[in-house]
Amino acid sequence: MADSAQKDVKPAYTPQTEPIPDDGKPFVPALLVIDMQNDFVYGSLAVPGASNIINRVNQLIDLPFTTKVATRDYHPDNHVSFAKTHQQEPFSRIIIYHPDDRDELKGLEQVLWPVHCVANTVGADFVPGLTQTMFEKTIFKGTHRKVESYSAFRDAWARDESELPGHLAEHGITDVFCVGLAGDFCVKYTALDAVDYGYRTWVVVDCVKSISQDEVAWDKLKNAGVHFTTSEFVKKRIA
Ligand SMILES: [Zn+2]
Repeated sequence: MADSAQKDVKPAYTPQTEPIPDDGKPFVPALLVIDMQNDFVYGSLAVPGASNIINRVNQLIDLPFTTKVATRDYHPDNHVSFAKTHQQEPFSRIIIYHPDDRDELKGLEQVLWPVHCVANTVGADFVPGLTQTMFEKTIFKGTHRKVESYSAFRDAWARDESELPGHLAEHGITDVFCVGLAGDFCVKYTALDAVDYGYRTWVVVDCVKSISQDEVAWDKLKNAGVHFTTSEFVKKRIA
């Protein structure tokens, strides 16, 4: 489908955005490009309006961030997050447990998704048109059959870290900028973890699309201390 054929979706609510201050404090920015993959743009779990952010995301990828990291959702075909795995309807919910949690003490509510981003399929590839050559690292998420991972930092139970925390620490990063898909799942949980790990955290709102168009995810992020900005502000600060 051509970009122009996909209808843009205006969110029902856009959080207040702010410029990135240039106050003389250390500023070592990282760009996290979350799950810009075929299945989330055109495929089985297409996020409304997703193709409309590709060009703006590319403009940020062209900027001199200290590091640029991509994530890819990358599941086995019987992943715990798939409705089909449980013979349930997509978008129903169940409680899942970490495979090492033998006493089932810490259940998490899991939305059951259509099959998406299966490893080694076109659906899991980066979306065509995305500039892929500038990523210093790619983080693969949800690769274990029984473990879900929305965040780029760690799995849903916060048991196992990805390579991202170490990578950001190695570069002395101060500010993390999150763009991509979906705003109310993988972008949201990545941004919440970025705050948890001590980074000043920015969601670039015109470079994100969400599955739901309501404001719930944004409010949760705002309350956690995430800042909202726009690609125009980012371009002014990181030039
Ligand atoms: Zn997934």
